[in-house]
Order: sequence, then structure tokens, then C-alpha cells
Amino acid sequence: MRSAVFHGRENIQVDEIAEPVVERDSVLIDVTAAGICGSDLHEYAAGPIFIPGDAPHPVTGETAPVSMGHEFGGEVIEIGDDVEDIAVGDTVTVNPILYCGECRYCEDGSYHLCESGGFIGLSGGGGGFSEQIAVSSEQAIPVPDDVPAEYAALVEPFSVGLHAVRNAAFSAGDSVAVYGTGPIGLTVIQAAKAAGANPVYAVEPQDARRELAAEVGADMTFNPIDTDAPEAIIEQSDGGVDATFEVAGIEQTVRDAIRSVKNDGSVTIVSIFEERIEIEPNEIVLGERTVSGTLAYEGGPNSDVEFGAVIDMFADGTLDPEPLITSRIGLEEIVDGFETLLGGEHDEIKIIVEPYSSH
Ligand SMILES: [Zn+2]
Ligand SMILES: [Zn+2]
Repeated sequence: MRSAVFHGRENIQVDEIAEPVVERDSVLIDVTAAGICGSDLHEYAAGPIFIPGDAPHPVTGETAPVSMGHEFGGEVIEIGDDVEDIAVGDTVTVNPILYCGECRYCEDGSYHLCESGGFIGLSGGGGGFSEQIAVSSEQAIPVPDDVPAEYAALVEPFSVGLHAVRNAAFSAGDSVAVYGTGPIGLTVIQAAKAAGANPVYAVEPQDARRELAAEVGADMTFNPIDTDAPEAIIEQSDGGVDATFEVAGIEQTVRDAIRSVKNDGSVTIVSIFEERIEIEPNEIVLGERTVSGTLAYEGGPNSDVEFGAVIDMFADGTLDPEPLITSRIGLEEIVDGFETLLGGEHDEIKIIVEPYSSH
């Protein structure tokens, strides 16, 4: 079968690789949709980062070359002898978290904080940019018939947004500001609105992304190129919003997110940074503000906690992934997709790769 394999920086190739083996507790999936993520781009442009370059990953034992793709779903075509809750023909999404099962975090049930943790599609264990993949049954979460099968690929990024919102300290009716409205920022806006945040302010320099932020629920948007966005937000919210989210990964947005939250407010950083930044700790201390970070979502035996909540909200329309899907491409075009997203001028948000249908 064919799979997009990371061989090294700026070297991803669609290779013919061995078909996955179905074990007693695993399910075999024809991958119908897989999203290209910002962290995939980081690996391509500057990696290996999460991908094990030299030392084998402690959970999978693998080093590059590894298959990529961690936001995906498809149709179950075979199940192992011990699998009970999933049937052939089901549409599933996959929670890609890998964990050791033995460290203090795994023993506490916080599998997403595992000391040796990783992700399918980055750390080995196959990837979603493949015609097929076998995963353990606890990682395969059924998607009901009334949710378009393609949305299975969007459950992962929406779970990132939901997890960030669940970790932040705000209540229904509280005000929120989101800095950066790329794919994850857009999921944070939707999850914050779903949690009752009102109003939600969004800050984004790119016109198309700012318009999309309004389309998915932001009550007011600001272009930081021509406006002092934190100043405007402080003014609108009578001295600062209850919670801010930093989803751009640069120094300015971290500083703005701290500056525009009220005293005792919560700042959640949802970005990965390419370099060290400077902040003013007194701005945190003097207002007794809380700054925290979130990376992913619950995994392992808790794989369905946030993934299941997102699927339910896709089904009842509380969350809408449709506006985020901007292109669909075949597996052979995947490197072009990466190059487009890394290029300067584009209106893409989420490019969906369709590995199975393109074979
Ligand atoms: Zn991702
Ligand atoms: Zn662990």
C-alpha cells in the first residue's frame, strides 16, 4: 500500500510500504480523509522535531523514516478477534495519542501527559497519510452516520480546541479573546462559543482568516496590523477579558494575550514556538493572572472523552468543521499541499488528503 513517509527535512515521499498487520485488539481502516496539520509542516520545514530522528521512540521503538498524518478517519474493513465495540463498515476517527502505560501520569489516567508519549503519524505506529492503517480499538472512535465521514479528519483539531477551552478558567457569559485564527484558533473560537463565552474577540492579521473567524462565531475581530488590538479589547471589555487564548506562537501574541486579560484572568497558550521569547513576569504577578499551556487532548483509555464530545457537537451542529475545509487532494499531491501551506500567499485552512479514494 502507499503511504506518505518522512525521510528527513524537506523530504517526504509517497512510498510503497508493507500492509498493516491486524492484531487481536486492533482494527484495520481504509483512510478516507486526513488533514495536514501545522505540526506536519514544522516537521517538513524544520524537523525532525516530534519525529524520532536518532533515538527510537520509547513506545513504538521506531525511528524515521515514519509514515505521517495524525488527523484522520475512515472505514473499518477488518477487526481483530478481541474487538467488541466496533464493527466492519463503521466510520471511525482515530485518537493518535501513544503512551507507555507505566509512568506516574499514565497511572493517574493522564495518558496525554505521558513521559514517553507520542502520536501516531509522528512517532511511528503508521500514519493517516496512508491507504490503510491498523490502530488499537481504544483509539478508534465511531462517527455516526449523520456526521459526514470526511469530518472524522477534523475531530482531532477540534479536540485540541475543546481541551484548551476546558482547561481555561471562564464561565458561560464571560468574555474571551483569541489571538491567531488559523485552523486551531478557529476551533478554539467555536469551542469557546459552545461553552457560552460572550463576547468572543478574535485577533488575526490575514484578511481571509479574520473573515472566517467572524463566520465561525467571533463577535468582533481586529486586524493587529492597523489596530492596537489589546488596547481595543481592554476598552471593549472594561479593563480586560476573562480569558485569552494564544494560538499564533510568536512573542507579540503572548504579550498581547497577557496584557488584555483582566486581573485574576486566565491565559492559555495553545501554540508550539520555534524560538525563545521575552515576556514581562510582573504583568502576571501584579494582576495575579494565570498563564498555562495545553498541547493535545485526553488519550489512551480516555480516547473518547474529548473526541466523543466533539463528535456529538458535530452531530448537533454546535461545532461546524465545514468552513475549515478549504481543499481536497490525492495522496500523490501531498508534497504540493505542504508547499502551498508553507508558502506566503494562500487562503487555505485545512487541506484534506484522501489516501484511499486516490488509489
Ligand atoms: Zn495536529
Ligand atoms: Zn506513560
